[in-house]
Amino acid sequence: MTKEFKRIGVLTSGGDAPGMNAAIRSVVRTAISRGIEVMGIYCGYKGLIENDMKLLTERDVSNILNHGGTMLYSDRCEKFKTPEGVALGVENCRKNGIDGIITLGGDGTFRGATDLTRSGVPCIGIPCTIDNDISATDYTIGYDTAKNTVVEMVDRLRDTCESHARCNVVEVMGRHSGYIPVECGIAIGATGIAIPEIPFDKDKLINNITTLSHNGKRNFIVMVSEGMGKGYSQQLTDEIQEKTGIETRLAVLAHVQRGGSPSCTDRVTATRMGYRAVEQLLEGKYNQVMCLKEGNIHAEEVEYAFTFDRIVKGKATQEEIDALEPTLRHEMLERAASKKDHLVRLYNLAGSVSL
Ligand code: ADP
Repeated sequence: MTKEFKRIGVLTSGGDAPGMNAAIRSVVRTAISRGIEVMGIYCGYKGLIENDMKLLTERDVSNILNHGGTMLYSDRCEKFKTPEGVALGVENCRKNGIDGIITLGGDGTFRGATDLTRSGVPCIGIPCTIDNDISATDYTIGYDTAKNTVVEMVDRLRDTCESHARCNVVEVMGRHSGYIPVECGIAIGATGIAIPEIPFDKDKLINNITTLSHNGKRNFIVMVSEGMGKGYSQQLTDEIQEKTGIETRLAVLAHVQRGGSPSCTDRVTATRMGYRAVEQLLEGKYNQVMCLKEGNIHAEEVEYAFTFDRIVKGKATQEEIDALEPTLRHEMLERAASKKDHLVRLYNLAGSVSL
């Protein structure tokens, strides 16, 4: 028999992303329309263990759809990684009549959610991160807005590079994921792109810049993923200038990429995922993460998402892969190969049009 839900909680945790508010609104209104109350928990798991929460009405989530950040605020909470922290969270759920929680965040947030589910508070996760680095879903909330911000910023840099015949190295976010630099690199016409997933030929880039400059090209944009490591962008900037003789500047876009009004795509995806997350919880399907797969919202088991992520990122051991049920193993390996192939094809496309 499925559990009866009278009141659920919603929280945002880890790195914020534009579109989190749209997802909160969707969760609150979907639940209220089913006669279920929603407790807004502030500052992620920190608010859960410190009992910092309040009941939200449908009006409390008015006029947030278009705002970046998160009205529930976000935080990181080391204590929640301990059994004592989780026990405090469970106790506060009991005291406040919270029957289940929708958690918005990334990988770490879903680990916390798994601990809660195992301790008797069922959870569902909604992937929110500009990095698009949760492998089980083709899309994470915030990614589209961040890309649009990067494109707008780099278009501005290009204008001034063209005027002054300069090169700009642009460091963008995405942690160890190269999606932002690759897609934005294509969108802004980058001469080179350095990401952690694909070997980067620095000498080829420097030769290209020299040749293109001799052919009359005046502006050069080189996109670098923050995942290339601390100090890499500055080193590359210095080396390009030294070897090409072209004035080269570094722009680190940093946290501007994490804010701003969410794009239409982020608002729609957040609304769809928020709605579906509540449905899953009410249907008794716990410890799942909402995923976009071939255009459809689809729920994956969190355990599947973690294992698949490790396979895609090359972190899974052979033993772990061998232990998977054969059909599942085949499906995961094929899907992982297709994901990698997609990124490589985009990367090569960027290279083939950067003449
Ligand atoms: P993100 O969710 O964006 O990946 P973090 O990795 O910082 O961000 O995780 C957010 C929060 O989730 C942490 O501060 C912590 O409260 C909780 N969390 C992360 N990892 C775990 C874990 N292994 N067990 C329990 N809670 C965790």
